[in-house]
Amino acid sequence: MGRTLLGVAGFPVSHSRSPRMQNAALSELGMDWLYVPVPVPPELFAATARALGEAGFRGLNVTVPHKLAAHDLADSRSPAAEAIGAVNTLTFEGIAIQADNTDAAGLLDAMGESPRGQSALVLGAGGAARAAVWALLDAGAAEVSVWNRTAERAAAVASDLGARPVARPVAADLVVNCTAVGLGGEELGELTLEGVEPGAVVVDMVYAEGATPVQEWAERGGARFVGGLEVLVHQGARSLRRWTGLEPPVDVMRAAAGAGPDS
Ligand code: NAP
Repeated sequence: MGRTLLGVAGFPVSHSRSPRMQNAALSELGMDWLYVPVPVPPELFAATARALGEAGFRGLNVTVPHKLAAHDLADSRSPAAEAIGAVNTLTFEGIAIQADNTDAAGLLDAMGESPRGQSALVLGAGGAARAAVWALLDAGAAEVSVWNRTAERAAAVASDLGARPVARPVAADLVVNCTAVGLGGEELGELTLEGVEPGAVVVDMVYAEGATPVQEWAERGGARFVGGLEVLVHQGARSLRRWTGLEPPVDVMRAAAGAGPDS
């Protein structure tokens, strides 16, 4: 039996900070496992994922564009993965593949306080937004509003998950940016937050070198800001706990994920 492997599948995947973050954690835990990037195009994803399980992989993180395909190929799914319809964590158990979505709980961990009874605004309608809406409602948020540039997608997410679609961003206690705005360092652009008060807590799923436009908006309005790197660390910690059964060294993961630009 060779070395136990973990990995992150995406296309492209070379920018991912997960390998250095997870390898730092494995080393801290004294485990002789290795976490590798797995670049795989969409048409090969399902066959590759099955083959990896048979080739000594214990688990796989899944990122763009494979999160829906990972949901579909799994033999069993956690309640979060089932409801969200997208998956970021696969676990190989013999020939069976189990699926989970740790983006949802990772977001709540990163927020560090319960959304119970709070109003929330989720910006975006892709996979990250679906995970955020589900997580907030599951944790007892009083009301979750969803805004998206393409309104029909916000309506679909809201109707699937029990949230409220809004035509314009509205004020809320918690705001979670799940649009890609800020990835390229651009301004808010089509995300119209001018005139909207940020509320108590703002989370930006996006992380970039320097402050994102959503971060600047949050800090101008006096909100507590939580960055996307913190969400990355906590979703990764939950994946690692699932695969190893051990308590992940979150501080070591945070330091490794934050060290330097994407490489
Ligand atoms: P996705 O499925 O591709 O969705 C992208 C979303 O961004 C859509 O709602 C899209 O709106 C919106 N958007 C793109 N450009 C925009 C613009 N210029 N103005 C306004 N809206 C715009 O992506 P995803 O998987 O949900 O991920 C969303 C973001 O979260 C990505 O940046 C990703 O890197 C980040 N993320 C971070 C973590 C983490 O651990 N920190 C985890 C997951 C995702 P339309 O529907 O109108 O196109």
